[in-house]
Order: sequence, then C-alpha cells, then structure tokens
Amino acid sequence: MFLILDALAAGEGKRLSSLDVIGAGPRAIAGLLEMFNVPYKIMRIEDYLRSKWRGFDVLLVSAMSMDEPAVNKAVMMFKGPKILGGPITSELSVVGKLNFDLGVWGEGELALEMLLKKGLSSGFIPDSLEGIPNLIFPGGKLTKISYLKSQDMRRFRPSTEAIRFYNTIPHYKSARVYVEVVRSCSNFNRPKIGASLDICKVCQACYKQDLRKRLICPQNIPPGCGYCSIPYLYGTPKSRDVDDILSEIRALVRLGVRRVVLSGADFLEYGREYLVDGPLTHPSIPGPNIKALKSLLEGVKSISDEHNVFFEAENVKPCLVDEEVARLLGKYLRGSPIHIGVETGDPSHAEVIGRPCRPEDSLKAIKLLKEAGLRPYAYFIHSLPGQTRSTAKNTIKVMYEAFRLGSEKITVYKFRPLPGTAFSGYRVKVDNYSREIARTAIDLNKMRKRELLGRRIAVIIAPSYRRGSIYAYPVKGGPVVRIKARKRFRVGDILTVRIIKVLSDRLVEGLPEN
Ligand code: SF4
Repeated sequence: MFLILDALAAGEGKRLSSLDVIGAGPRAIAGLLEMFNVPYKIMRIEDYLRSKWRGFDVLLVSAMSMDEPAVNKAVMMFKGPKILGGPITSELSVVGKLNFDLGVWGEGELALEMLLKKGLSSGFIPDSLEGIPNLIFPGGKLTKISYLKSQDMRRFRPSTEAIRFYNTIPHYKSARVYVEVVRSCSNFNRPKIGASLDICKVCQACYKQDLRKRLICPQNIPPGCGYCSIPYLYGTPKSRDVDDILSEIRALVRLGVRRVVLSGADFLEYGREYLVDGPLTHPSIPGPNIKALKSLLEGVKSISDEHNVFFEAENVKPCLVDEEVARLLGKYLRGSPIHIGVETGDPSHAEVIGRPCRPEDSLKAIKLLKEAGLRPYAYFIHSLPGQTRSTAKNTIKVMYEAFRLGSEKITVYKFRPLPGTAFSGYRVKVDNYSREIARTAIDLNKMRKRELLGRRIAVIIAPSYRRGSIYAYPVKGGPVVRIKARKRFRVGDILTVRIIKVLSDRLVEGLPEN
C-alpha cells in the first residue's frame, strides 16, 4: 500500500491558512498509481503526524519549501522507500537532507511512471534508474531535465475518487477543489537586478519577440519573475484537453464537490500555446486564445447551472486582460473572485524584478474585471530585492488605488527567496517600509469587511477546527464566517447568513437566517 502525504502549505505541521484548499498535485500522483492498479491512500500530513499510521510500504510526499519542518517529522516515522516531490525539490539538497531515497524535480509524471514500470509498483526502488528524467539522488545529483508537452498531459489523468480521502480539514464537500487546466507561465523575461546590462544590450532577448531565443539567457538567469520558480520548474505553458477537464469536474461533482477552482499560474494562458509557432515564451504576445477559453468556460457554465456548483479561475496575468477578455470572464464567471498579481506598485521596480506587466496594467485589469462583474483580489509582495522608500510609497499608492477600483481583498506576502529563481541568493530584509505595506493591507481589508455588515450571503459549513465553534466559507468566496448558532450542521450544508460583526481582517461573524 502506498501513502501519498499531502504536505502542501503545512509549514511546521499545522496549517494556518488555506484551510479550505485541496490542491491538484496529490490527485495527479493518485491518478498515476491507479494506472498501475497500485493501492494507495492520501493523507494530510497533520493527520499522519497525529495518528502515527502504520502499514504502508512506500511513501510519496508532495510539499513546498516552507513545509520542510513538517516533512522532516513525517519522514522520521516511516520505514520503507520514500520519494519526495513538489516545489520543495527545487532545492536539490533537500532530498538527502530529509533522508529520502529519491526526489522528483519539476513535473513528476514521467519519472513516476517510469519508476512504477521498473518495479516501484511492487514496493521497491528499482535497481536501474537509467534513462529516468527529473530524478534527484540523495547526493543532490539531478538526472536529465524534461518538460511535458500539451499532448503528454492527455496521458496522465488525475484521480477523482481520491478526493474522498480529504474528509478532515479540508473536507472535499466544503473546500475549494483545484482542477488543473493549464500548467506553467509564459513569462520568460528575466529580472535585471544582478544582471550585466552590457550583455543584455547585446542579447536583447527579453525585449524582443523571438520565442526560441527567449528560452535561453546567456547569463544563465532563470526565466520568470525573480521571486517565482514556475517557468524554470515547469517549462513553457501547456493546456489540458477541454473534455478531460470537464469530465474530471463532472466526476468530482458526482462525489459531492461543490466548489471548483480552475487552476493555473495564469488561467488566460489556456490554449495560448496553440496560437504560436514555437515555444510560448512571451507573456503577452499573442493575447489569450479566446476560442479555447470560451469552449472551456461554456462547459464549466453548463455544469454550474446543472449542479449548482461554484467555479472560480485561480489567477490572471493583468497584461492579458482587455475589454474582450473581461467581458468573456464576466459572462461565465460573474460574481466569482479573480486573483491578480500586482506585487509592486513601482513601474521601474516591476521591470527590474522581471514582471511581465506594469502596475498600470494591473489597475486597468482590476477596473475592467470589476466592471464585468467579477470580484478582483490584488496581491503584493513586500521586502523584494530593490525595494526602496520610493518603490514602497508607490506600492502603497497602488494598493489604495486597487482598493478604490473595487479590489475585494488586498493580500500582501513577505518575499521568500525560492531555490531555482533569480533571487534565490537574496536575503530578506524587512524594514519600516515593508511593515507599512503590510499594515496598509490590514487596514484596507478591515474597511472592506465592514462593508459586509448586514449583507446576506450563502455559506457552506466547514469541518470544525475549534471545539464549540462553527465555521463556514462563503460559497462564492470571501472571508471565513464564524456562525453564531447553537444548532448542529453537517459539513457541506449550505445556508444563508447575515453578517453581524467583523472579527478580524480575515474573519467575520454571521447569524443564520431562519
Ligand atoms: S535573456 Fe538574459 S542576457 Fe538576454 S536580455 Fe534577458 S536577462 Fe539580459
């Protein structure tokens, strides 16, 4: 029996946020095991650490860099072959450091399929690992890097049955279940902080539209924004087949899923690779593939209408949003949140950190999407390399402007230097400007939450994570709602509540109607 441990966002072993999120990665691994008729179970790492389960032969862990402490605790409890995957392995040394037998780098499907074929399906690490791409050995050595193509994505189908393993926190009947529609990002611009501008002057790849030339940087700077490892880990964007996505969603809905996130680093990349001759390495030229997006969204809408399921798209790149795109998203996803990365409010800072879009593009996208009936959430990062008094002031200005234009939530993250990125070697320096950016977000979010007072919204009951309290999530997204009631509810029950109190910038209180 295989154990897939979902450690994503578990940190030290106790998830503090994203309690209503079920990511797509572990179900993708489960789909591969089902192809080989291998019995398995998925567990959240917190449940495994608490229950000290035994009886598994092989351990597969999916984690991010921040989850190293939780993974370390879990791996010490396990006897048998252990394989580590997910964004955590972008730091190659982590495989040996955490005592794993093997790691899988970037896209894991091909490597795991070959391992299973060569004997892993019988419960042991094969003797010969020759020819298997994306494998990391405990010494830190990585075999040949390989990226999937759009046509490869069709061979690997995420398991839908596996969703039933998520019956603690989060629970599949109330959580936002991520369904991957497109993988990776087309931003093959490079940050200019730390680059030799003399070499850039000769090269010019970042400023031109030669798609093949944009794949390689003569200075070996990883592609993408300096704080993000997505293009380096997953290559150029690739979209899943529309029928595969819709049949996955239908199967999940049949099992009781009510909230679906159409997942991708940028939803608007969907089908864009079919518009170019060559690798899709330009973040905004050509624009979105309207025909492909429309066919996906039409299918999604018909499932939504038939089964009363709520959909949202994960992220959009602001420079791909124009009037036509906003109208299209508004037609099919009206009333749903939409996530827009602004990151910095300073145009020159945006350029030197490798952003594909300017702050003004983000503000324009927020305005258009709001007017089209969506609910934009804006994202910023403080303490980025290159942050100065002036960039921070501009960021705060843009935060207020994003708020004024109708952003429903302003989220600020602290910069984390990720392995495999251009900023991997940078130290995080939190200064007074960083604190001011973080404070501004809290103030703006509280103001927005106060606007909810007296409003009636539909919420879905969540599993209880504090004795004596009932929590729920707004069906259409929004802050967690603490329910003021003595009555018992079942996870997945939907009810209407009136918001009566703002408890924090992330939590409100609601009184059930009737
Ligand atoms: S690809 Fe590298 S060398 Fe070329 S312009 Fe971009 S950062 Fe400069």
